[in-house]
Amino acid sequence: MSHATNYMITCPCGMVFRSKIYEYVNTRQDPQLRYTVLAGLLNVSTCPNCGRRSTQSRPFIYSDPAHFLLVYVDPTPDISDEARRDTLEKLLSVRQKVGIEVSYRVPVKEKLRVGSEKHVAGVTIDTLQSSAEGSVSRGSGERMSSGADRAMREGKERSGASFAERAMREGKEAPPLHVVFGLKHLYELINAALSQQERLGRLALRTFSQREAERGQLLDIARKFAAELQCQVDAEIVSGEYTVWLYGSRRQIGAIMRELTP
Ligand SMILES: [Zn+2]
Repeated sequence: MSHATNYMITCPCGMVFRSKIYEYVNTRQDPQLRYTVLAGLLNVSTCPNCGRRSTQSRPFIYSDPAHFLLVYVDPTPDISDEARRDTLEKLLSVRQKVGIEVSYRVPVKEKLRVGSEKHVAGVTIDTLQSSAEGSVSRGSGERMSSGADRAMREGKERSGASFAERAMREGKEAPPLHVVFGLKHLYELINAALSQQERLGRLALRTFSQREAERGQLLDIARKFAAELQCQVDAEIVSGEYTVWLYGSRRQIGAIMRELTP
């Protein structure tokens, strides 16, 4: 089962609202979440008042049993070496408890420094730069504060590790646990595991109408398709144009396009 916690988010506009933050994503139970992740929309909060977006960079576990993929994701690409080591140590202790392989890759510069010794121990690390290339860019410069921010920071490794443990116990033949820092590398792992037809596709439904009723109609249509075909819906307003995006596999998006074009 995927797992999310509701947090109270305070927007710079003054609005206080609830937002769902995922700690554990399981695409067997919630196939649409694969595309939420690939669209860069997981743990992104949208203010219902002003539409401002912000990303809650809490670590989460991504589990896709059908593709033998299990990943611990710390979305912070520029995490300190110390924090990184900390996370890895915790995950390695989970590994010993559950008896599962933990898989990392050492970035080139680190490989040179530590030599091959760490490879023998199976401890290698991947880091990535902050550019979210290939994803849809989200969020504004201004940061929203969440009341639970500090609690999230304090508890993040621990809860991440405990979800990792749970994910490992759930699978009889558990895949190795990949550890990544930065979302870009998660997208690479997912895309490498998916066939062309399973990769992210998207479709925009647009209207220039300012009328709530017409915009609502567009959103209803999108939601109907999304529910039927396990897609993700996201609405945005850019210079007066109302756009509803549908994110799903290329196969599903193709099917929706065929239904919409007579
Ligand atoms: Zn706001």
